[in-house]
Amino acid sequence: MITVLSGGTGTPKLLQGLKEVIDPGELTIIVNTLENDYFSGVYVSADIDTVLYTMADMINDELWYGVKDDTFITHERLEEIGCEELLRIGDIDRATKIQKTQLMEKYGLNRACEIQARNMGISSRIIPMSEENSDIKIITDIGELEFHDFLIKHQSEPEVLDIKFSNVSPSEGITEAIKNSKAVIIGPSNPITSILPILSLEGVRDALKDTYVIAVSPIIGSDSVSGPANKFMKALDIEVSSVGVALLYKDFLNTMIIDVQDEDKKVEVNQIINKVLLTNTIMNNLDAKKNLAKIIIDCIP
Ligand code: GDP
Repeated sequence: MITVLSGGTGTPKLLQGLKEVIDPGELTIIVNTLENDYFSGVYVSADIDTVLYTMADMINDELWYGVKDDTFITHERLEEIGCEELLRIGDIDRATKIQKTQLMEKYGLNRACEIQARNMGISSRIIPMSEENSDIKIITDIGELEFHDFLIKHQSEPEVLDIKFSNVSPSEGITEAIKNSKAVIIGPSNPITSILPILSLEGVRDALKDTYVIAVSPIIGSDSVSGPANKFMKALDIEVSSVGVALLYKDFLNTMIIDVQDEDKKVEVNQIINKVLLTNTIMNNLDAKKNLAKIIIDCIP
């Protein structure tokens, strides 16, 4: 068994490669739930749905959100009748979210995801990091913002001064999954709002210390490949580079994979992490995703 820690863009790209190079039934994917909330009366767990759609080959992999070729009839009608919907939820995607909301109210989020994964024909185990809702606030130069307001309404433009999120309890089975894995892969996800929430769960850092852990840097040079990770790291006074990412994971990380463009940082990262590999980490096509996945699998002792 191999466990992957995931957010909703960088790591799902890697999952597309991993599921081609190893049996997806060998994968347990622990997914960030920090940004989960209700929108238009349905529960939206964006990262979980992205991972579900990725593993079921349904993902809109231009946006890394929603279902490919979805329609937006309900969303457009809602806007027409004056129900503003911050997230543009597609029709098929909305059906998934309505089902998840109903299942969750009956059985909890963990079991809801298990049922949906099985219905979508996914053999990997997908575990939401927590069944509790987190409270996340982005403190910016224009005031305190809800995460989705910052990301969507304000297009991640305000200057970020601080990020605050509440601690939640891990879902059942998380530390066991990590301990029973031959390796844990931390994909190139946002270190602050996707990975740190998972690392903050009780018992997770300790479990990682007893497991072989490989991480891919989501930062190349001094910028994120996409999204606001750079702003979030800067706000927390963490160097925006693969060195900064290495420092965040240093107490448990065995191998760090950084991009070929970061050759000049290899020595510095190596002073923090025992083993450092340099390769192309930009996953802009399936071959690049499979190559990176193979390199990671080959690292596992
Ligand atoms: P979110 O939940 O949508 O924020 O997505 P994630 O946290 O999973 O991923 C966001 C991170 O993925 C960003 O910090 C990006 O820099 C990183 N990322 C996206 N695509 C790539 C890629 O092809 N290669 C690498 N190395 N990082 C990537």
